Amino acid sequence: MSMMLAQRLAELGIDPQTLAARGLRLHAEPAALVEADRGADGRVFELIAPAAVAWQQLRDAAAADGISLFLVSAFRSIARQHEIVAAKLARGQRLEEILRVSAAPGYSEHHTGRAIDIGTPGSPLLEQEFETTAAYAWLTAHAGRFGFTLSYPAGNADGYLYEPWHWCWQTPDPRTPKEQQV
Ligand SMILES: [Zn+2]
Repeated sequence: MSMMLAQRLAELGIDPQTLAARGLRLHAEPAALVEADRGADGRVFELIAPAAVAWQQLRDAAAADGISLFLVSAFRSIARQHEIVAAKLARGQRLEEILRVSAAPGYSEHHTGRAIDIGTPGSPLLEQEFETTAAYAWLTAHAGRFGFTLSYPAGNADGYLYEPWHWCWQTPDPRTPKEQQV
């Protein structure tokens, strides 16, 4: 762990040992990001290049099936994650509660430029009821073809709350025959 990250954690009162005990892994920021999509408000969402292409293919395939998907978040820096946790602490939330919902800085999959939070019209953002939508049913059936997997299913070993909206792109296994890759 870098000195910078150790200082961030200390500043927030987070003990890296307790994160390690939960089996949580550090996630590094990538060297390069590209624009993956743009929100209706013009906000730019960034991912690493292959994940951006995979997201665009996923989104377009869903649209072709009549399912509208949009990004709620994509890449998030370690510095931004620090701000999010610090703001929650400043509002008086307890650290243990915060870390069930938010990753500690350095530990979010969003740092990698591979993780996305997905929304669909008519469903509140980042709420568990996303799992009741046609979008979620579609993702469950098809996201794997595009390299995306659900990171935090119900009862996940990482100790995070169930996040049906959070998907992460994995580098395709080179042993998978080309025609099965998208
Ligand atoms: Zn997420």
